[in-house]
Amino acid sequence: MIRFCRRCLYPETKPDLWFDERGVCSACLGFEGRKEVDWEERRKEFIEVTARYRAQDGGNYDCIVPVSGGKDSTYQVVRCVQMGLTPLAVTGMTDSLSDIGRRNLDNIAELGVDHVEVTLNPVVRRRLNRLALTEIGDISWPEHIAIFTVPVRMAVKLDVPLIVWGENSQNEYGGPATAQDNSVLNRRWLEEFGGLLGLRVTDLIGLDGFERRHLVQYFYPSDVELEAAGVTGLFLGYYFPWDGYQNALIAQGFGFETFPTTVEGSLANYENLDNYQTGIHDYFKYLKYGFGRATDIANNHVRRGRLSREDAVALVKRHDGKFPWTYLGRPIAEILAEIDMTLDEFRLICDRFTNKRLFKIDNRGKPLRDRDGNLMPLFELN
Ligand SMILES: [Zn+2]
Repeated sequence: MIRFCRRCLYPETKPDLWFDERGVCSACLGFEGRKEVDWEERRKEFIEVTARYRAQDGGNYDCIVPVSGGKDSTYQVVRCVQMGLTPLAVTGMTDSLSDIGRRNLDNIAELGVDHVEVTLNPVVRRRLNRLALTEIGDISWPEHIAIFTVPVRMAVKLDVPLIVWGENSQNEYGGPATAQDNSVLNRRWLEEFGGLLGLRVTDLIGLDGFERRHLVQYFYPSDVELEAAGVTGLFLGYYFPWDGYQNALIAQGFGFETFPTTVEGSLANYENLDNYQTGIHDYFKYLKYGFGRATDIANNHVRRGRLSREDAVALVKRHDGKFPWTYLGRPIAEILAEIDMTLDEFRLICDRFTNKRLFKIDNRGKPLRDRDGNLMPLFELN
């Protein structure tokens, strides 16, 4: 039987998560540590650090803010502008951009900044999506790479050494203690925590006809280039209290559009609105570890006292891990057709990545599903 955090709903199956002797998870402990932070002091620190990187005489941008057009990146731009910085917003384009995602990306420049969008060859991208889903059970692998490499490449090329990232996901979502306190995002952090699942970009070369020239933007700059440009990546969440819900409220006040209903498999209408493939990404997390996006969101609310643990359990049971028939209203068959995959092929891949210790299987080892296509968990969230 799997064990859950006594304070939030994370299961012990979550990668890199650990529990203390009271049964409290590392994500909750990381959050607890924030209560002792002197945020006034951190704000001053932010002003000091950014002052060192400011462009002389307004001749260049002060920093780069990587933006997806989501609530967090909208908030990052708002905060940087508010702190008197002149950021360049940079987008490494998402896998399968939704209509609402397009409008929210357009809104970024309206915050009063320059905005560069880098569209990575969509023909290559779709083949990467298919390959990554088939090989490592993560359709969003190319996106994870692109959102980290494109802004860093831009920092080197444009000689804007400071990159202001959002939160350190190892803090809110739990991770090794040393990684939680880290205020800097560098290549090491990316390789360890960027969600690359052991597949490196160089592994692709020669596979399925991929050549290096197809993947230029997916390569992280070399250490020599980074050093020459003096690139440093900071987490904004280290300097200002980070809360996705707060960020959504602020973003909305600055023109960010929310979805008309709660997003499928989620508990919110304000996040993961830009990519039609996200439902599949989150579903595979559930297949592998027994929890999905609804758990992540519920936990953020539980830690901040906006939801009781009991209510969170009820909501997560209702929404987490449902077969992703639609995402942002788009039927799965259409989402899969884009990457040249049928629903039958998709189901077989799901079965292959389903954790057989967490879900009921038949006597041939095939995962069992109910009428609605949902798995039958062997564990009970409580
Ligand atoms: Zn916890």
